[in-house]
Amino acid sequence: MSEDRTLEEFASTDETSTTGPTDENEDGTVESVEPATPAYGWGSYTCDECGETTERVWWHSGGVVCPACKEW
Ligand SMILES: [Zn+2]
Repeated sequence: MSEDRTLEEFASTDETSTTGPTDENEDGTVESVEPATPAYGWGSYTCDECGETTERVWWHSGGVVCPACKEW
C-alpha cells in the first residue's frame, strides 16, 4: 500500500519543480508596436465608432474603426 503514497509524492514534487516555464505572456504587446500613421490591421478588434466586432480595422488616432466607419 506504500506504492500509492510514493506516486502522490512524485506528482507533488514534479509540480513544485516547474516554476512557470512561460512567463512572458502579456497582453498589449502588439499595441506597443503601433505605427504613427493610420494603418490597416487584421485580427479580432472592436470598432470604436459602432462597437461592432470586426476582423479588419484601420488605426484611427488612438483607436480602431471598422471599414464601415472609416472616413474615406
Ligand atoms: Zn464601425
